[in-house]
Amino acid sequence: MTSEKEPINFLLVDDLEENLLALEALLQRDGLVCLKARSGDEALELLLVHDVALALLDVQMPGMDGFQLAEFMRGAARARHIPIIFVTAGSADAQRRFRGYEAGAVDFIQKPIEADILRSKADVFFDLHQQHRQILAQRDELAAYANALRTADRHKNDFLAVLGHELRNPVMALGAGLHLLKRREDPKQALEIRAQMDRQVQHLARLVEDLLDISRIDQGKLALRKEKVALQSVLGFAVEASQPQIDANQHSLKTEITSEPAWLDADPTRLAQVVSNLLNNAAKYTPEGGEITLGARVVDGFVEVDVTDNGIGIPDDMRSKIFELFAQVRSPSKRAHEGLGIGLALVKQLVELHGGSIALKDSGLNIGSRFQVRLPLLA
Ligand code: ADP
Repeated sequence: MTSEKEPINFLLVDDLEENLLALEALLQRDGLVCLKARSGDEALELLLVHDVALALLDVQMPGMDGFQLAEFMRGAARARHIPIIFVTAGSADAQRRFRGYEAGAVDFIQKPIEADILRSKADVFFDLHQQHRQILAQRDELAAYANALRTADRHKNDFLAVLGHELRNPVMALGAGLHLLKRREDPKQALEIRAQMDRQVQHLARLVEDLLDISRIDQGKLALRKEKVALQSVLGFAVEASQPQIDANQHSLKTEITSEPAWLDADPTRLAQVVSNLLNNAAKYTPEGGEITLGARVVDGFVEVDVTDNGIGIPDDMRSKIFELFAQVRSPSKRAHEGLGIGLALVKQLVELHGGSIALKDSGLNIGSRFQVRLPLLA
């Protein structure tokens, strides 16, 4: 990543210490770092480790002179594009000796140096460097956005595939039911088929409602109908709603609910939906004949509702993700269970709209899971 805030380096090369100090004093200001070298070799060493916005090279130096140093710089990938200002003592003729103009900006300044001219020349290069950095930072930012969009797009496509799959099953079952109803005259069989179709319609309606809820919350349009409600009655509604799913999988449900008065300022339907969703998941992700416990107690002005199962559990790497929209634990070969991966995201948002929180408290593979909802008691 490129940071626009980092100081800008410039390099001074001169064999005379006093010249280096004078040039430094002339150019130094906030946000700039001056690197000084007394020879071409020292300069090349500095250029190996520093990113430099401008190099000021004295042309006449013993050993490697300024032009030779510049030619080395033009040959090194890292230093090739560094703008160079040569400090010359002689006439403009000397300028022709340098070949290497094509790689990067080159300028000349004659001794005795006129401070204003050098400063304004140098400022042009510092500004260019700063602009270049800004462009790089914007490029990085755009790349990050593009990446996030690609991921979101992939999630959306995955979701559409899952949604298609989820909708196909009940729709096909309804089609088959209608077909059978047309042929069966036996009223008992017809009743059974209708009951099955009724369950499929309810499943479809639930899916559609969840999808609509998610988008209502996203747009801030989900309004809670809050009232003073007793915790125990909300939990009663939730159990009633989930009992068919629990029975269908032959699970046993144990309740350990406090009898202490526990009043909440809550939307009873939405809160029952939260708990019922957790109970349904417990039923869905536990092999037949499992044990599900619904517990509730009052702790320090809060109620804690626990839904515990002894089912398949949640792998470590998924624990932090399951409350995200569309998060599902997948089996390597195919989808392990039905569902859209929106239930827990919806539950979390509904709990938070009530001023509460939800957490996965325990989970062990094939041992089970415990989800806990914490809600503030009515003051
Ligand atoms: P869905 O059940 O529709 O896939 P949810 O948002 O309700 O979506 O749950 C997200 C994922 O979390 C599920 O796909 C499942 O992998 C995992 N999960 C949720 N509850 C349980 C549970 N009680 N035991 C094991 N895994 C669970």
